[in-house]
Amino acid sequence: MNTRQLQAIAREHGTPVVVTDHDVIRRNFAKFRRYLPKVQPYYAVKANPAPEIIETLYRAGSSFDVASLPEFLLVYKNIRHLPAAERQNFVWDKIVYANPIKPRETLEALNQYKPLVTYDNLDELKKIRAYAPQAGLALRLRVPNTGSMVELSSKFGCDPGEARDLILRAFRAGLTVEGVSFHVGSQCINDDNFVQALNIAAAVMAEVRAHGHEIKILDIGGGFPAPYNAHVPRFETLARKLNAEINRLFPRDIEILAEPGRFFVASAATLVARVIGRTYRDGKTGYYIDDSVYHTFSGMIFDHCQYPIRSFKRGRKEVCSVFGQTCDGLDTISQSEELPRLEIGDLVYAEHIGAYSNASSTHFNGFPPAKVVHINV
Ligand SMILES: *Cc1c(COP(=O)(O)O)cnc(C)c1O
Repeated sequence: MNTRQLQAIAREHGTPVVVTDHDVIRRNFAKFRRYLPKVQPYYAVKANPAPEIIETLYRAGSSFDVASLPEFLLVYKNIRHLPAAERQNFVWDKIVYANPIKPRETLEALNQYKPLVTYDNLDELKKIRAYAPQAGLALRLRVPNTGSMVELSSKFGCDPGEARDLILRAFRAGLTVEGVSFHVGSQCINDDNFVQALNIAAAVMAEVRAHGHEIKILDIGGGFPAPYNAHVPRFETLARKLNAEINRLFPRDIEILAEPGRFFVASAATLVARVIGRTYRDGKTGYYIDDSVYHTFSGMIFDHCQYPIRSFKRGRKEVCSVFGQTCDGLDTISQSEELPRLEIGDLVYAEHIGAYSNASSTHFNGFPPAKVVHINV
């Protein structure tokens, strides 16, 4: 993002401010469609639930992955203007409820929409049958998450060996299993996870086909890596492998969905913060800035992500620390940043901070979440 524009926005709106560029979101979306033309993206709203982002992605042609009742309603609200019949199509074409575990009350509330929901165990199947019998189902499989920044396989997904039984039981209970799904782990930089997952999914589909049930939907989940640094493999390479495996393993008319979260939004936002204090300790300068790991930098804790701090100033760089504004010692953003000498009042910025960042910001210590400014909407 243009550094002059960032500074101008910080002057106008104050700090901390998260500048979200919708041209970048549209570019990321177009790239996904271009390289994976057979795959309909369902944006994982939890990565960044700003209504402006939902609107932009909806207009670009995206569908949505929601994982709670409030997220469902947030997306559904945006299509209130559609006639009722189309709205039902909208839920099927445009929304997947991809949290394998759902409270009873949520299932009861969702049932009227005939949603598409995921499950991965027998208790959940019973719950869906009792509280959302109109739902369509997608079975979430446990697949390798090796090397992904955020691992999900210890919490979700049935063992492939149980898959056939869980699918047949659903049909026997009068429900319809529409799809199988998986998630290779978030920020997956190991393409092999996707390849293995596709092979596992194809084997499960073949098993249930032998029992007379054709599964129509393959949901390849999220995990598509954001370009945080030069070590992240190129999306084009991953896409080429995915297309080859999809063509090799699945029938031509299979409907394929994906649930990209960070891939669309991580690179679209830049945080601008201000130096509010300075110290000298442990042999180096420490800067305190007006954001924190409880706020826009919460991705450091919850998402295991690093966001290098950059300066608008030039000059010889020295090793320094950067701390957040709260009174907690955990609130340390970096112990080894390289920045030129900064003064109190100077602005700094952090790029690629659009996913799992302000989405998980708190009000800890009385500091509100950073202001968000949307540009090129
Ligand atoms: C969080 C999540 C996603 C999005 O994952 P990314 O790694 O951000 O693409 C997709 N699907 C499910 C079920 C999720 O929980």
